[in-house]
Amino acid sequence: MMTQQVVIAGAGHAAGQVVASLKQKKYDGRIVLIGDESWLPYQRPPLSKKFLAGEMPAERLYFKPPAFYDDPDIEVRLNEEVVAVDRVGQAISTSSGDTISYTDLVLAVGSRVRRVETEGSDLAGVHYLRSIEDVNRIRADLDAAENVVIVGAGYIGLEVAAVARQLGNDVTVLEMAARVMSRVVSPEVSAFYQEQHAAHGVQLLMSTGLGSIVGDERVTAVTTDAGRNIPADMVVIGVGIMPNIELAAAAGLDIDDGIVVDARCRTVDEHIYAVGDCTFHPNAIYERSLRLESVHNALEQAKTAAANICGEDIEYSQVPWFWSDQYDLKLQIAGLSDGYDEVVVRGDPANASFSCMYLRDGRLIACDAINAPRDFIQSKALIANRCVPDKTLLADADMQLKDVAQ
Ligand code: FAD
Repeated sequence: MMTQQVVIAGAGHAAGQVVASLKQKKYDGRIVLIGDESWLPYQRPPLSKKFLAGEMPAERLYFKPPAFYDDPDIEVRLNEEVVAVDRVGQAISTSSGDTISYTDLVLAVGSRVRRVETEGSDLAGVHYLRSIEDVNRIRADLDAAENVVIVGAGYIGLEVAAVARQLGNDVTVLEMAARVMSRVVSPEVSAFYQEQHAAHGVQLLMSTGLGSIVGDERVTAVTTDAGRNIPADMVVIGVGIMPNIELAAAAGLDIDDGIVVDARCRTVDEHIYAVGDCTFHPNAIYERSLRLESVHNALEQAKTAAANICGEDIEYSQVPWFWSDQYDLKLQIAGLSDGYDEVVVRGDPANASFSCMYLRDGRLIACDAINAPRDFIQSKALIANRCVPDKTLLADADMQLKDVAQ
């Protein structure tokens, strides 16, 4: 019989946690980790925050110190891509031409940035942000640039805007939607963040798309879709990501808005799991399947898959959560607010510490906490318990959230 061997395709945050959980559970077999980047698994959140600001060295990004992988049962293959999966033969092949057998395969292939195809989009000085190398290039340009144009006012665009202002650059942000972070927060929270960025000197152009990027070899300006010309020494584009589904699709696995898995993080093939940004998975609390772009999801799915590989029978059921750091503002989001029909504000935005509580049919479904960590932590439990809070108590910032359940 073949020795037990877990092969992990991808070496990002989720993959690192799969390895850690398998070791913790004393998995009795070999682990082969294959990643197409040149780095051991690392954390991406600091890339648009402290690491970009130059306040964190690259070694601190590692998910586990390099010595952790110094284990006779762990084989790490970097700069190598998994190019095909042979489900019948239970083996993968890689870009180096090797074939590697598995008893269980974990697809932890993550996502990639959505690129814009517009005139000038391939000029020098046009950047995307997903990897350490991307940040190294952005940082070098930021140090030399005066005018920075950011396309997209989501988390990443706004975090880069905050760092660039901190570094003294002139910053203009173009956003197609009428308000910032419109995909994830309510108009109340968007308005607060727009005021904060304006107060820090960022020029926000809302309801404005990118027309073209201008320059000979290197960008010198961008034009908006309304024809306005904005000087630019560099451009950072943050217009979303796409799950890496191609490997799974070619192997005949089910695909929706990601690689389809069940609550055990298993695909339609009982020997193939998928975890992290690349998955489309059921969420018991919201009673629907969804795709999440978050570290918490990557870690929890990785733990679930590893436990099931080790013979346990574990289902993933979590309240999603996210965060974003901009200036001295910590935004923490518990739950998913889309589909809310009422919002209750706790605290006063003027004090830069408040939260927005989102309800649907009276039930608490999400909380955006701005410099309000206690609300964030307590709301997670209420959301998980499908709490229908008393709204008067909910609006009273002097009441602790744990005391507002009816
Ligand atoms: P990834 O981190 O994308 O890792 C997948 C890896 O697999 C990549 O290295 C990829 O190159 C590799 N790969 C892909 N295909 C193959 C293949 N065929 N063979 C081999 N290797 C392959 N989340 C938060 O919760 N909070 C934050 O504040 C936050 N900030 C962020 C800031 C930035 C700048 C970025 C980019 C992301 C941020 N995120 C944040 C999102 C978070 O980092 C992701 O949700 C998380 O990295 C997902 O982990 P993953 O392992 O699923 O995917």
